[in-house]
Amino acid sequence: MDVLGRDEIIHYLNGGNDVELFAAADRLREQSFGREVYLRAIVEFSNFCNKKCNYCGLRAPNSNVNRYRLATDTIVESAISAAEAGVRTIVLQSGDDFSYSSAQVEQIISGIKESHDVAVTLSLGDRSAAEYEHWFSCGADRCLLKLETTDPVIYRRIRSGADFHERLELLLSLQDIGYEVGSGIIVGLPDYTVEHLADDLLFLSKLELDMIAAGPFIPHPDTPFYFAEAGNIDLSYRFTALARLLNPFSNIPATSALDSFDSEGRKKGLLRGCNVIMPSVTPVSKRKDYNIYPGKNAVSVDVTDTISRAEKLVYALGFTLSASKGSSRRMNNVE
Ligand code: SAH
Ligand code: SF4
Repeated sequence: MDVLGRDEIIHYLNGGNDVELFAAADRLREQSFGREVYLRAIVEFSNFCNKKCNYCGLRAPNSNVNRYRLATDTIVESAISAAEAGVRTIVLQSGDDFSYSSAQVEQIISGIKESHDVAVTLSLGDRSAAEYEHWFSCGADRCLLKLETTDPVIYRRIRSGADFHERLELLLSLQDIGYEVGSGIIVGLPDYTVEHLADDLLFLSKLELDMIAAGPFIPHPDTPFYFAEAGNIDLSYRFTALARLLNPFSNIPATSALDSFDSEGRKKGLLRGCNVIMPSVTPVSKRKDYNIYPGKNAVSVDVTDTISRAEKLVYALGFTLSASKGSSRRMNNVE
């Protein structure tokens, strides 16, 4: 497949030729990454959030959440356990919880970077560009900031009045600062059409992202979208396969949301263009409380067990786990 136009993208999103699409995405992943899959361990260190996104279980007005905040030492220890189990990228994620000071985040980044040669990805939401710039100078390598949708009207509706252009501006600033930047969307939000998804794909691809993350929407009972239909999992596979075709060298995760629909979900993702998996290494006692959507982190096991399950999944498919940090290979940055 050469250059994909909007009409062709819509054709594939509608299921016009899944066999051809998935095979082409798989071939291209193989060309770009060989048999290697990257493992990113996520430490979900706080489920406090000052936002009211209508799709998310952690939204501030949800009083049915057991809120927790991990101490900085505990966060560093969780990251170190994952690094000792062989993981080369640690993702630090939380609700938009601004009670962690800039200095505390710095302490966490330095604590991890000083103890192990791993990449650190920040997924902290709408902190200021100045703070992100400071954390870059402290050694943070990557940021993950999903646009969730690239339609400003839908963005306002799903993120409770927030401004799409502010989010986009922050994302562009992160790229200017020098971070490897990931973004993405949620597939199948209420009132979404395949035309929206085609536009999302074209928009995200123009941003030349180092990572593109897209998983199906899962309605949460304690949110204003409790009544909405779940995103279609086939559409989600098609979206990431098309993202691969449009972005041969970007890292594309098979998200854990896929496994909420189908126990084979992440496996299928890896066979259809994805090249990353992101298991949670949040301390077991807190994991179930990071309840962004129902079913998230339902399996409570320790770090070693989490990593060995992820390894088994990868090896069962005939892939190997990459020993490298898995920096973006976009823009001819091929190792
Ligand atoms: N607070 C930060 C990061 C945590 S949210 C931020 O908002 O950027 C992590 C991701 O979970 C979000 O980017 C969103 O894409 C996803 N998410 C939240 N609720 C979801 C739902 N109901 N279904 C699917 N994905 C969801
Ligand atoms: Fe908070 Fe992020 Fe959930 Fe929005 S998506 S409510 S910012 S955790």
